Amino acid sequence: MSAPAREELAALAAALEGKPPAEILAAAAARFPGAIALACSFGPEDVVLVDVIARARLGVEIFTLDTGFLFPETYALWARLEERYGVKFRAVRTDLPAEDPTLPPPWQRDPDACCDARKVVPLRRTLAGLAAWVTGIRRDQTPDRANAKVIEWDGRFGLVKVNPLAAWTSDAVWAHVRAHDVPTNPLHAQGYLSIGCAPCTTPVRPGEDPRSGRWRGREKTECGLHLKPGGGA
Ligand code: SF4
Repeated sequence: MSAPAREELAALAAALEGKPPAEILAAAAARFPGAIALACSFGPEDVVLVDVIARARLGVEIFTLDTGFLFPETYALWARLEERYGVKFRAVRTDLPAEDPTLPPPWQRDPDACCDARKVVPLRRTLAGLAAWVTGIRRDQTPDRANAKVIEWDGRFGLVKVNPLAAWTSDAVWAHVRAHDVPTNPLHAQGYLSIGCAPCTTPVRPGEDPRSGRWRGREKTECGLHLKPGGGA
């Protein structure tokens, strides 16, 4: 499938801005049939998208980057979502051999390399077979995400990126969760606002940035999946 022209994407983004996520996803699924997938990391935005995709039976595959280091609660949520919606998530894993148990764990040795090997490389491999990927990015999450469009070109990975919740607030996400009784990670109720791998995620204290629990005490704030092309974050 040939890549869409910049003008087509801009027109689509303008036409879909402000539309409900189901409409954005349906338009994207129609434009990229059989070649569009949601990257689900089980945050509230992602489970809302799973709910929308599954209930409307949209032709959007769902995959998960399974680093092997997710919380037990996250693996349990994965199973619960599959059962609730009758869908199977594709597990995407690293090709690396098992870690040497005599060495310090990879997230201590070099978290950037650990994320690269377990998230960025497997994601790149998966996206190479797609024309478009769907993410739960919201504009008010971080300054890096403030200009996200509902559909845009992802120069980092070389395919279209669909952000159906770009304009949503956190309150809107949680209102959808409550309205449709969407399963969520029980760790959110324990102060884990943004949940990644267990060794690199801590609860967030009142008043802190929602993502401050990720890689706490390090410069790192992103796993490399949503960096802008050219190295800027
Ligand atoms: Fe490794 Fe931590 Fe990145 Fe997970 S979040 S891949 S454990 S460095």
